[in-house]
Order: sequence, then structure tokens, then C-alpha cells
Amino acid sequence: MPRLLALTAATLAAGTALAIPPPPTPTATELAQRGDDIAWSITEGLTTEIGPRMAGTEAEAAARRWALARLKALGFQNVREEEFRMQTWVRGEESAALTGPFQPQALHIAALGNSASTGPKGIEGEIAYFASYDALVAAPDASVKGKIVFIDHQMQPAQDGSGYSYYGRGRFTGPNVAAKKGAIATVIRSIGTDDHRGAHAGGTNFEAGVKPIPAGALSNPDADQLVRQWQRTRQMRTKETALGYTPEPLRMNLVLTPRNLGQRASGNIIAEVPGSDPAASPVIIACHLDSWDLGTGAIDDASGCGIIAAAAKHVMTAGQPRRTIRILWAGAEEVGVFGGKAYFDAHGKERHAVALESDFGADRVWRVDFKLPDSAKPVADRIAAAVMPFGVVRGRQPASGGADIGALVQAGVPAIDLQQDGTRYFDLHHTPDDTLDKVDPVQLRQNVVVWTATLAILADSSDAELP
Ligand code: ZN
Ligand code: ZN
Repeated sequence: MPRLLALTAATLAAGTALAIPPPPTPTATELAQRGDDIAWSITEGLTTEIGPRMAGTEAEAAARRWALARLKALGFQNVREEEFRMQTWVRGEESAALTGPFQPQALHIAALGNSASTGPKGIEGEIAYFASYDALVAAPDASVKGKIVFIDHQMQPAQDGSGYSYYGRGRFTGPNVAAKKGAIATVIRSIGTDDHRGAHAGGTNFEAGVKPIPAGALSNPDADQLVRQWQRTRQMRTKETALGYTPEPLRMNLVLTPRNLGQRASGNIIAEVPGSDPAASPVIIACHLDSWDLGTGAIDDASGCGIIAAAAKHVMTAGQPRRTIRILWAGAEEVGVFGGKAYFDAHGKERHAVALESDFGADRVWRVDFKLPDSAKPVADRIAAAVMPFGVVRGRQPASGGADIGALVQAGVPAIDLQQDGTRYFDLHHTPDDTLDKVDPVQLRQNVVVWTATLAILADSSDAELP
């Protein structure tokens, strides 16, 4: 046998005897990068089989049953429901029309959560226009009393969604301010950046002792129509126009008949990847299972539940992590963060290493923000390096957490925000357009990869780094 061939044969024989080393076990991130349909199938399944999931309703209960079955099927441990009770509000009939001085015209409106009812016959009133929430706050009571307050503003899209808290005040507390000044109802321009005729739902809140009034949101084009008519009535009051109308104030008819169903059951769904070190504090990752009722809650927040479960699954598949990963699919977030409060009441005294939430759609993660103790600087450095290849920059501002982990973060639990691109989020948020077709599978997958990379580092962080 020629020498070279003999050597090759010997090498081959040795290779067979010693076994060629197996390829290295893939990391969790590599598993996520291979692609999977976990996040997509959860988003598709929840929106297809359940659809809208208003807190406290039978649909939300069906979503919890669905969630328990799905999380068990994925192989998670300690999968359970933690029930709580909450005040349940449901939508009724809703219509609005501008009734004068021009030709009557119907408008597209959605009642805001916690709105009072106008009664089935509705109410009619003069519109008191305010260019902003701040203008309403500054207005004397006499300019509002007995009228239907309209709050205008022009929310603009922003990648970080930063307009929401500023413009959102018109919805969060505008009706409360108007009620205290004696208004009979409040109508706002939707807190949204689209030009569709679907109104943006969302909750409003009345202080204890303030009698709730009917409150609704108009779609942006309908708000534009109201504003044009209001401007024209102002011009008419200063000069006669060729239209021949008498200069009267702008009036609206409003029918909103939501109902309070009293205390109903909701619940949090919890699942875990048990860690190898039972003494180590868990990493908690959250989303919310409930949704508003106009769309099917695809981007808010079925996709968030899909993203976090997929990431936990990849970490679990890659090998048991040191810390337990606790998945929280919270109930009743939209109508007042009842699930987050219930979780905190039940578990707030337990140690948590760090908390994260996915509740800003399904578009790509572009920035990571940290709010960690000094001891965790190496953790932040490792995460920033791990997510950088996927197009994620390190932010300079502290993480704030999400609604459902808000109480934990307030109580001092460290937080990390994987900030998603929110440029189109408020086109869809709480509207009939929040449906599965708006979820981009490519961007959804990027979320899963970034979450997996982050979670793998957190779950194996040391006790010296995180509490
Ligand atoms: Zn949400
Ligand atoms: Zn929402």
C-alpha cells in the first residue's frame, strides 16, 4: 500500500475508533437564529382561535385555557393560573353625529374603558373645543359646564413611541378633568398616528368621588371633520358666509351604552423553566394576554406573549439555566393593570433577579436600556455585545420596565427594556386594524433572537451580579 494511502486508512480507522467529536451543542441564540414558529404560532393561534380578549369576559377566560394548554405543550413546568377578580367594563352601542349647524353627519367613535353610559337615547350638546389637554386643564369651569368637551391634538409617530405619554393624557385623565368642570361628556381625537376611520380604544380613569361621564374617541379623519366644522362655526360667528346658515355653535349627538358587569374573574398565567440552582432568584419575563375588543390583539399583545415564550423555550432547549425563568402572561392589563397588581400582591415579596416585558408590538428591537445595580455592569456589557450583531444599540437612559412588571420595578427589581421600533405601533394600537396580517414574521423572529440572547445571559448570571 502506498505510504500516503496507508496513513489515510490509519487516520480513518483511528477516527472511527475514537469517534469524530460531535458538533458543538448549539447555544440558545443559535437555536433561535435557525428560526422557529413558536412566536408566530402563538400569535396566530391566539388571534385565530380566541380573537379579542377583553379582560373579565368569557373570551379572556378562553384565552387562559388556551394559554395553559399551549405552555404545557411547549414543555414548561409549574404551568398554572393565578386567579384574581376585577371590575369588568364592556362596550355597548356607540354612535356619534355632528348635528348642527351643518347637515348632520355620523362619526366613527369608540367608547373609552370606564366610560359612563349616555343611556340608549343618547345625549345632545354643544361642543367645547380644546386644542390640547393642557388647554382643557387651564379652562374656566364656565366654558365647559353642560357641554360636550372635545380634546384635539396631533400625535406624531416616533420610533420610541415617546408621544404616547404626552398626548395620551387627553385619554388617560381628560374625561376626569372635564367631569370635574361640569361637562356632560368628553370626546377626544384618538391617541393614534394613522388616517384610518377606526377609532383607538383605551382606558380612561375617573378619580374617586368624581362621577364618570360618557367618554369616547373619534378616528383621526372624523376628528378632522369635527375640527373643520368647529373652525367654520367660529368664522360664521364673526361674519356671515355664503352658506346661508345661521351662526350657531357646533353640536353633537352621542350614544354610548357601555356596562359595568361588576367584579368578574380574570387571571395570570405563569409558567417556568426551572433553574439548576434553587437558591438563585428567578428572571421574570412578561406580556399580557388580554386585549381590547376592536381588533384581535395581534400586536397588543399576542406577539409579546409569543416572543417571550419562544425565547424561554430556546434557553430551555439549549440546556438547563442556572436561574429559573418565570413567564408571566398577565391578565387584565388594558383596563387597569389588574394582573400586574395581582402578581405583585402574590409575589412582590419574593426575590426577582431582573424583570423584562414585551408589550410594544412585533417590529424589530432597536435599542436596549438597562436599570441594573452597579454589580450587574458586566451583565449589561455582555448583553449589549450579544445583541449588537442583530442591529440593537445600547441606550443611554434607564429602563422603565412594562406595565405588568411596573410594580416590581417600582419596588426596586432591576429591569431591562428591549425597545421595539414603534414607528407604526400607534397606527394600529387598540384599533380594528390590530390583526395578524400586521405582524411581520421577519421582524418577529429578530425579536425572538434578541430576547433569547438576552435571556440566556440573564439566566446564567451570577449571584454577585444580580440580586
Ligand atoms: Zn399592551
Ligand atoms: Zn394596549
